[in-house]
Amino acid sequence: MSGPENRPSPLSMLRSSRVPPRQTVRGAPPPFQSAVPQRGWSDALILPDTGILISAGRQRATLHKVAAHYKGRILVARLVADEINRQADPANRVDPLLRSAAAYARTGFVGAPEVETVDLIQDDVPLFDQVVAQLRNMPGSAEAHSAAHGGEAAVLAIAKRLISKGRRVVVLSNDGGAAKVAASLAVPLKHFGQVLRELVCAGTIDAPEAIGIFRHAETVSGVPSFARPSDQLYFECNSVAGSCSRCS
Ligand SMILES: [Zn+2]
Repeated sequence: MSGPENRPSPLSMLRSSRVPPRQTVRGAPPPFQSAVPQRGWSDALILPDTGILISAGRQRATLHKVAAHYKGRILVARLVADEINRQADPANRVDPLLRSAAAYARTGFVGAPEVETVDLIQDDVPLFDQVVAQLRNMPGSAEAHSAAHGGEAAVLAIAKRLISKGRRVVVLSNDGGAAKVAASLAVPLKHFGQVLRELVCAGTIDAPEAIGIFRHAETVSGVPSFARPSDQLYFECNSVAGSCSRCS
């Protein structure tokens, strides 16, 4: 039963050929695009990786602002603390900017009395091993030393366990590979630019300061180009009458 009305006319064929093909989304959502609002979740536990602590440690004033923003809910994975201690140690050959940032991060986070250090537990080990292997297989991954990606993998494995117990957790990392794995594990993750956005929403810094801090921090830990904030607009809070409820 196909009357002429069911046959595609040349015009409708022309129209349909103009419709762009639907974008197929396979598997995980894009990295750095988790459901965490721009203003953050005030009740989430925060698990930073080494790169984020280095970013925050680039300027001492910024470090204190980040630490104050997440006060009482920052967990530093033991492997991340070890990496920071190693980079801050004058006995090791480390870029001077990195050394200075690591030294501030050690004082402000790793060694701070209000910051809890967390260890991997036995249950975390299978996921930890899996994530290390995934990160090492990412294109462009640095595999120079056996400890590579231990910090990010520890943070993701611990975060996944806490989430499975009903806790709200946000991982902080600038690493594109870690962001991809986090998306596949449904672990919320933010990079340093997104952390600075939270500080803008909280009224701690303004957008011009945020882009200045971000650019300065890029000299020690960068964000992949596809996710990199390009201008001040990125950092602006959509505050209306003192509320940033639109910063979702
Ligand atoms: Zn806001």
